[in-house]
Amino acid sequence: MESLAEELGLAHQITPAVECSVRAYRRDNHGFVPFLAEGGSPVGRPSSLLSNPALSLLGRVRVRLEPLIPRRLKGEDESVKSFIQRRLGARAYREVYEPLLGGIFGGDPSELSAQATLAPLVQVEADGGSLIRGVGAQENDKGSARPPILTFSEGMSSLAEALQGSLGVNHVQTSTQAKRIFRDSGQWVVRMDTGVEERCDAVVMATSASAVRNMLSELTNVQQLVPEVPSARTTVVNLAYPNSAISRPLDAHGYLNGRGTGNGVSACAWSSAKFQHRAPPNQVLLRCFIRAAPAADKEGRPENPKEAVALARDELAESLAITKAPIQTWVHSWSVPVYRIGHAQRISDLRARLTELPGLHLAGSAYDGASIEAVIRSGMRAATAIHNSDILQETL
Ligand SMILES: Cc1cc2nc3c(=O)[nH]c(=O)nc-3n(C[C@H](O)[C@H](O)[C@H](O)COP(=O)(O)OP(=O)(O)OC[C@H]3O[C@@H](n4cnc5c(N)ncnc54)[C@H](O)[C@@H]3O)c2cc1C
Repeated sequence: MESLAEELGLAHQITPAVECSVRAYRRDNHGFVPFLAEGGSPVGRPSSLLSNPALSLLGRVRVRLEPLIPRRLKGEDESVKSFIQRRLGARAYREVYEPLLGGIFGGDPSELSAQATLAPLVQVEADGGSLIRGVGAQENDKGSARPPILTFSEGMSSLAEALQGSLGVNHVQTSTQAKRIFRDSGQWVVRMDTGVEERCDAVVMATSASAVRNMLSELTNVQQLVPEVPSARTTVVNLAYPNSAISRPLDAHGYLNGRGTGNGVSACAWSSAKFQHRAPPNQVLLRCFIRAAPAADKEGRPENPKEAVALARDELAESLAITKAPIQTWVHSWSVPVYRIGHAQRISDLRARLTELPGLHLAGSAYDGASIEAVIRSGMRAATAIHNSDILQETL
């Protein structure tokens, strides 16, 4: 993200998160337990579990035994839950990874693909066997610290706005839906909801897999190549309060709810404590994440913004004893792709078949990673492939 930001002239707006000795707490029946601290994230560095106060003594004993667990011989995918339990134990899964991964990825960890969501750890096991020794050794080689948490001083939308500006307003159409994409006379035709049709030599589809399948409905043989990637709905409720509404010091980036805690809210970011200038000096900004299960399961999903705010306020009354009404609230809903077991293989098969179709590329969070970094990489890869292709050489 940093190199793209630099290219777009946004380097001066990059803002790191405030340093805190405890980055996040886990909330359970006993209150807040320090969860992500100096040792880094257990997703990037499992050896940090050994000093993680949120992991019980028995859990740590089991983690110490991890180097003795034989590596899995078969290269088949398995669930995140099964991978973590097998290598690091049931307590590490329940007490640390389950709340953490629930906060990051959509979906139930017993259905999520380990290969697609924890690829570096799966690779460490395949290469050397031990997550505790393997990841530690790699870090020593690189002398690497944990990756920084960054934003832009005016918020993440600065990146999309700068991209749009760099392409030129006349070359970008927002608020226009592509309805159908089909072939005609050796070209791709994109039909918009306005009725306008654009003829293109190359197309990059960067929407959810289900939207891709819809748009390709006239090309059933191509449509069938695109696997279903379900998505889970996440509702984000931002609430602004006067400082006086909160008695507890906001001394971390927020907290994650442990198993059985919370009324549907999986995590709460203390946004104004995480990034400076996110709220006026006399106010705080809190962000609650309400995650619904994928597909048709409506359980836990707020039906409307009012209900979402009510859920968030109940949560904050319980966790931070906030009883005052917020000064202002904002509610947004997003879809997060759920990488089910076998995802990486399905996407690899898809990519192999797509090479037979000149000029059609897929990018975005549905395929090779949902972090902003991974999404930018996928867009760059599609752009490079088009730039280097015969199609473009013939057109130039
Ligand atoms: C609440 C939340 C917090 C997150 N926090 C982080 C974080 O801290 N760090 C991090 O790295 N990642 C984070 N992520 C993940 C990351 O932000 C997303 O994975 C990424 O932004 C997805 O980008 P995308 O372009 O693939 O999809 P989207 O941003 O969903 O873009 C897809 C676009 O396609 C458009 N579209 C859909 N159908 C059509 C159509 N038919 N015609 C035209 N346009 C269409 C949509 O309107 C949308 O604008 C977070 C995600 C969420 C939801």
